[in-house]
Amino acid sequence: MPSYQRPPGTLDILPEEQPYWTRVRHHATHLAELAGFERLDIPIFEATEVFARGIGEGTDVVDKEMYSFTDKGGRDLTLRPEFTAGVVRAYIENGLHVEVQPQKLYSMGPTFRYDRPQAGRYRQFTQFNAEILGEQDPAADLEIMTLVWDLYAGLGIPDLEFQLNSTGCPRCRPKYVEALKSYYQEHDDDICEDCRRRLERSPLRVLDCKEERCQPIIENAPRIVDYLCDECREHFASLREYLDLLDRRYVLNHRLVRGLDYYTKTVFEVWASGIGAQSALCGGGRYDGLAELLGGPETPGVGVAIGLERIVMTMKELEVQPPAPRTPKIFLAYLGDRPRQESLKLMDQLRHVDVGVYFAIGRDRGLRSQLREADKRDVRYTVILGENELESGKATVRDMKSGDQTDVDLKLLVTWLSEKV
Ligand code: AMP
Repeated sequence: MPSYQRPPGTLDILPEEQPYWTRVRHHATHLAELAGFERLDIPIFEATEVFARGIGEGTDVVDKEMYSFTDKGGRDLTLRPEFTAGVVRAYIENGLHVEVQPQKLYSMGPTFRYDRPQAGRYRQFTQFNAEILGEQDPAADLEIMTLVWDLYAGLGIPDLEFQLNSTGCPRCRPKYVEALKSYYQEHDDDICEDCRRRLERSPLRVLDCKEERCQPIIENAPRIVDYLCDECREHFASLREYLDLLDRRYVLNHRLVRGLDYYTKTVFEVWASGIGAQSALCGGGRYDGLAELLGGPETPGVGVAIGLERIVMTMKELEVQPPAPRTPKIFLAYLGDRPRQESLKLMDQLRHVDVGVYFAIGRDRGLRSQLREADKRDVRYTVILGENELESGKATVRDMKSGDQTDVDLKLLVTWLSEKV
């Protein structure tokens, strides 16, 4: 057992895993920029208040999962458990609301939640986040959803389907909450303790309950779609029409409410088969009241958070191969002090013309050990320099595939190698 181990719920992403990550990051960035999203980076920590107000007291994230601390200046800070609240804070603080609307912003980076660690559930995980701020139009919801869909589809994840619901707005939701509460009152003896608490603090979340005994009750509970006001109903109908138009499959899921308080109207997730209970690949929706809640002007918004660890897990499960990483195809071996110096110069020259190269690091190594390393590094050519080569002005270049050796004029070597690889 090593003396130190990484904290529970964190990952070391080793070099052999990186091709998956590079592929996912590049693809996400490419699609976001294709759709006119611009990158926004925000701090990894924010004033705790931003999350407490934004995500909402009474939610699991705020009540149980935040990494909060007081800094040496006495400020209450929290490692971001998600992006949206911070992005909206930045939008207001930097006056992005006076720029061209809507603002289409994407971000990517680590997020932190004190969750119960298990496969696909970590305490530090990585989100790709996209938001469209300043528009109510359901076309904005559609754009967010197509971005997500195309991301998964382009990575080779098949059988996609959105879970979709509308959570209404402050005009129509209270009526629904009332109906839900009175329905639950009739079943008070049959529900779990958590649901009893949820009914007080965050009533919609009873629909999210995983307890066996609550399932039949949820099944027959009133459905929010039957309580939507005209505006919410039309918004939801248009979004579904657009999803049909662009052939993005969805199922209506009346139980989908999502764990954060700020949602209004659209909520959606995409589930993956095969990664166990933690099957949500992403979650998103509309949050028209969030900017005001954080002290900004009234600003509608819609967005999505995509967990990258779960994508990588899914790709592996499906045996989707990412492109091989680009590693140097040339290895520089040498024997003796002067040849070692010449090799160092050659290394420098090659890299300056953008040709990747390994130098045989290590003092007093035999040629055999250097060639063994070259073999393991899977290079195409090994350049061998010794006193003889310097004297004759020609390097020995070994083709590692065929084993053939060629003499190449030292003055032409950089050009020769750069043309070969
Ligand atoms: P949420 O806002 O909770 O719906 O999270 C959005 C997305 O982030 C989820 O769909 C997951 O892909 C990912 N995610 C959330 N929590 C975790 C976690 N603890 N570990 C790994 N990924 C997570």
